[in-house]
Amino acid sequence: MKQKETLLTIPLSEEKIELSHLLIEEMGDEHKASSVDTPLRADAFEKTDEEKIALIEPHFRAIMETLGMDLSDDSLRGTPLRVAKMYVKELFQGLNPANMPSMTLFENKFQYNEMLVEKNINFYTNCEHHFVPFFGKAHVAYISSGKVIGLSKLNRLVEYYSKRPQVQERLTMQIGKALQTVLQTQDVAIMMDAKHLCVASRGVKDDSSNTITGFYGGKFQEEATKAEFLKYLDINA
Ligand SMILES: [Zn+2]
Repeated sequence: MKQKETLLTIPLSEEKIELSHLLIEEMGDEHKASSVDTPLRADAFEKTDEEKIALIEPHFRAIMETLGMDLSDDSLRGTPLRVAKMYVKELFQGLNPANMPSMTLFENKFQYNEMLVEKNINFYTNCEHHFVPFFGKAHVAYISSGKVIGLSKLNRLVEYYSKRPQVQERLTMQIGKALQTVLQTQDVAIMMDAKHLCVASRGVKDDSSNTITGFYGGKFQEEATKAEFLKYLDINA
C-alpha cells in the first residue's frame, strides 16, 4: 500500500517511470495487495458478458499464436473461446456485484450466543499477479448479534469473492468485511490457508509452503475469543 502511494506522488519523468515499473513488478512478485477493494474501472460492467467473451477470445488466440501454437489443430481450435467463457462466466464472475449471492438473515430464535465456526470451506481462486490458481481452506466464524444466516451462505460468500483475480490478504478481508455488513456485527473472524501455484510451480518452486491469513473483528480481537476460534481450527495461536 505504501509503495502504491509512493508511486502516485512520483513525478512522471522518464527515469521515474522506470522506477515505477520496477516497483509495480516487485509488488507483484511479493504478492502485496494495493487496496481492500478490487481495483476496478468505473466502466467495468458497461459491456455484457457476451461482449466481453467476444473481445477476450481474439486476445487469447493472439497469445497462443505468439507462443507459436498451431490453432488449426483440432485440440487447440476451441481453446481461445473456451478460456474467454471460463474467465467471464466462471473464474472471474465474482467481479460483478450482480453475482453476489443473496444473504437472507434469520432471527436467532435459539438465542445461541456462542461462537459459530464453519471450517474447511474449500476455495479456488486465481492470483492477480500471475493469473494462476491459489486454493485451500477458509475457516469462517461469527458471534450472532441477534441475526443468523444459513450455513451454506458462508460457503457462497467465500466462493463469490474467490471468483476474482485475487491476493490472499484482500480475499480474506473482503469476506470478513462483507460478513460484518451482512450479519450486522463486528464479531467476525476469517482464516485462510492456501497453496499458491505461482509459488509452487514457478519462481522459487516451493511446493511445501502454505500461506495463512487472518481477519479478526470485534470480540475476536480479544485473546480468549481468538484462542477459542484457533482451538476449533486446531492451529496453535
Ligand atoms: Zn502470484
